[in-house]
Parts: sequence; C-alpha cells; structure tokens
Amino acid sequence: MVFEDLYMQGQRPKYDCLLFDLDDTLYPLSSGLATSCRTNIEDYMVEKLGIDKSKIHDLCNILYKNYGTTMAGLRAIGYDFDYDEYHSFVHGRLPYENLKPDPVLRSLLLNLPYRRVIFTNADKVHAAKVLSKLGLEDCFEGIVCFETLNPTHKSTVSDDEDDIEFVGSRTFAATNNGSSSEIFDIIGHFAQPIVGLGLPKSPIVCKPSEAAIEQALKVANIDPQRTLFFEDSVRNIQAGKRVGLQTVLIGTSQRVKGADYALESIHNIREAIPELWEADRKSEVAAYSGNVAVETSVTA
Ligand SMILES: [Mg+2]
Repeated sequence: MVFEDLYMQGQRPKYDCLLFDLDDTLYPLSSGLATSCRTNIEDYMVEKLGIDKSKIHDLCNILYKNYGTTMAGLRAIGYDFDYDEYHSFVHGRLPYENLKPDPVLRSLLLNLPYRRVIFTNADKVHAAKVLSKLGLEDCFEGIVCFETLNPTHKSTVSDDEDDIEFVGSRTFAATNNGSSSEIFDIIGHFAQPIVGLGLPKSPIVCKPSEAAIEQALKVANIDPQRTLFFEDSVRNIQAGKRVGLQTVLIGTSQRVKGADYALESIHNIREAIPELWEADRKSEVAAYSGNVAVETSVTA
C-alpha cells in the first residue's frame, strides 16, 4: 500500500492550472494591436478628457508605470469617466482583422491536460473578440478580466474594501470625486517631488498589483504553487512570482529575474516545457503496462 501511495504521488502532475495573459501573449506583438491601442488611449485623453496634447506622452508613461494601466492612473489622478465607454473607444477601433485563427496553438492548448484560464486587464468584450479571432474561444474554462476585478464603477474607495490594497494615498482618492478642477498634477509631482506627499490611489484593480493577482487566483480557485503563468509583461511576471506562481515570459527567449522560463513565442511551449506533457505520457505508460499484465495472465 505504501509503495502504491508513493507510486501514485509520483504520477501527480506538477501543475493543476495554466494561467494565460491575453494580449501580446496568445498572439505576437507584431500584430499591431498594442500600438493601435496606445494611439486610441492618447486620442481618448485628448478628445474625451480634454488633456493638453503636449502632455500626453509623458502622462501616459508616468501613469502606465505607476498604476499598471493608463486607465487606472487616470482615475487615480482625478479623472472620472465611464469604464465601458473608455473600453469601447480604445478597443473599438483596433485592427482585429490582423488576428488570424491559430490552429497550431489551439491544438497545443487542447492537448494540455490542465485547467486553462485567461487573466487579462482588458474588458470582456475585447477578450471575447480576440479569442474568437484566434479561434480559441473554447480553449479556456474561464476569463478573469477587467469586469471581474472591477465589478462596479466606484468614484470613491469604500470602507468595505480594506482587504484590497490600492496604490498611493487613500485620502486623496476619497476626497476627489473626479472634478476636473482637482486633477493631481502627477507630471509636476515627479518633476519636483514634495517630501511626504504620496501618489493618489486608484479605485481600479489591475495587474501588476499583487492584490489584483491574488484576487484573480481566489476568484478562479487557483493554487499559485501549482500554476504556470504565461505573460509578455516582465513586471506582471515578477508580481506573479511574488505571489507564488511559476512563470513563463513570452515574447523573448531571454530569461529575466522572476521568470522560470522564457519563450520567444507561445508556439514554443512544447519544446521549452516538455514536462507539461509528461503527466500525460506517464498515465499512458501506466495504462499500457496494465494491459500487458492482463494479456500475460490470460495467455498463461
Ligand atoms: Mg499582455
């Protein structure tokens, strides 16, 4: 019995779940969606939020760097807008036609004997559109997306969200209800930092915040120790590593700190991580030897 137990433990695959980022992970950066998305975000900031065009470049960089997404940063510094309207503006005009069905990836995914879940900062409409264009819509058991982590549009941080950690100072976000007269001058803040003045916090929950990743794992009932996380963003990989995930950086073969593997393309998954197929092979071998034993006893 003891031997049998140990034998069964040896059969247990190392992973239960594969967690995939969507954009620039399941399709290459060269598709042009990321570049187009950035242009649309800049247009939104000028056209809808009335931000001076000359500030856009610096502002985007600062917000993206400090808040995970430009959108989360815009909310933090005091802009208020409808999340759905924002998403339809920045994603509505993306060159989705550049994404083609990927039967190779589809076959790879469907042959991997693990739970497969998407985790993206993008909204559900965009995620569904991308998966449909790639022909991968039935390859995943679920999608953790913007709406999962941000179910309602809240202008203020309420007391019942104490367990969720936001960036920066709670006081600013709670007292600023998005009126344009109270926009936090974040460019000025970085040009001449005032000692003791923290960054305002965002009500938006997104990668690479560790709290966002932990929340996603909880929602999807995922054990980080038994999960492989595929991402093109180095900072998301590093945040994933900090919460205990095994990590695969996509888009480069150069491993960085925090990445257990690095693949130029998701298509290289079989060559780069053969152990993912080992669980399958072990169970095939076990089944085969079982048959042999039966045959031997019949012919004996
Ligand atoms: Mg990505």
